[in-house]
Amino acid sequence: MRQRVVIALALCVNPKLVIADEPTTALDVSIQAQIIKVLKRLCADHGAAVMLITHDMGVIAETADRVAVMYAGRIAEIGPVSDVIKRAKHPYTHGLMGSIPVIGHDLDRLTQIEGSMPRLTEIPRGCPYNPRCPRVFDRCRAERPDLMPVDRSRVACWLYDQEVPAHG
Ligand code: SF4
Repeated sequence: MRQRVVIALALCVNPKLVIADEPTTALDVSIQAQIIKVLKRLCADHGAAVMLITHDMGVIAETADRVAVMYAGRIAEIGPVSDVIKRAKHPYTHGLMGSIPVIGHDLDRLTQIEGSMPRLTEIPRGCPYNPRCPRVFDRCRAERPDLMPVDRSRVACWLYDQEVPAHG
């Protein structure tokens, strides 16, 4: 009910954009689905866009058109949801997707991303993901990659630099 009240309050001012930060956290799955449905319907009725901030890839897959995967405060990969989920390009996105159990797939262990997220005051030089990346090479430790176009997505990773052949 609190989520519904907050959604109603947000829409009172006829916004063009609603930023919903973890709107379904701590809700059970059926209420989650109801809240997302209400949010989508009301925003469509009001002509507002929704930016959803969440850790739940299931919610993203079911609701969003585009997704930006963030790492250490920056976008690592951005693109259409179907591309990012089914054909993840950035090694961090790969790790995230590999850590999600798939019903019907018999696995002893899920993929685990080694190490932990850096403090925002101690972000490593070069690519911020380099201490944890299984595909790291020399350039990653020296230069920070900006987003570069790859198919319909954009990815901040030197593996996709068209000008310099990738290593690793
Ligand atoms: S730039 Fe290098 S360290 Fe960063 S994600 Fe790509 S391969 Fe890994």
